Amino acid sequence: MTDAFEDVQNIDITDTEIDEALELDPNHILLKATASSAVTIDAYVDKASMYWLEEEYSLEIMDSDWNKHMAWGQITLELPLEFSIILNLKTENAESFEVSVPNIYGWCESCRAPIFNDAAETCPSCNKSLLRR
Ligand SMILES: [Zn+2]
Repeated sequence: MTDAFEDVQNIDITDTEIDEALELDPNHILLKATASSAVTIDAYVDKASMYWLEEEYSLEIMDSDWNKHMAWGQITLELPLEFSIILNLKTENAESFEVSVPNIYGWCESCRAPIFNDAAETCPSCNKSLLRR
């Protein structure tokens, strides 16, 4: 696909969950948490392919006549985030804070859930087949 996707517009973080809390020593705990975030991306696409892209990628067309050749749309993707935080219990400050994005192999075409396993044949969220129709 040659159409350009640019400009992350908006990130909403939802569903934060503490997965693990480990006592490192009497003054420090390590918290591991995951959150899912919805990222909205502006997409400028060729007018000729906009209907096809709208079907295939849950692209929402915002302006089908952005200029002579291009339409403006937005795509919302779900992106999981993992947090590692070391808290000092004495000072109540975070001494270390890390955010990472786990490996993603793609998104479910039906519900947009991220797919973590490259051998998965069905979506873990909606159970629909991930194999190409
Ligand atoms: Zn799904």
